[in-house]
Amino acid sequence: MAGCTWCGGDVTRSSTGRPRRFCSDEHRKAWHQRVKTLRRQVDHYKDLGAANAEPYRSYWLSCAADAQAELTNLS
Ligand SMILES: [Zn+2]
Repeated sequence: MAGCTWCGGDVTRSSTGRPRRFCSDEHRKAWHQRVKTLRRQVDHYKDLGAANAEPYRSYWLSCAADAQAELTNLS
């Protein structure tokens, strides 16, 4: 994958030659924060889906699917 995982901007190559995933420390932190939030949301929405009857179940499960999709995009 080319560019910063967070903003898609240029990433400077590290001295070890290992490709970096982020253009800056801020973006690495922002990404971690977002991933953490999304993971929590997925679990939370799934719990709500399990705890509620239709039509709320479908609603919460689609929220969980959306959060999961964004999580997959970010990983
Ligand atoms: Zn960036």
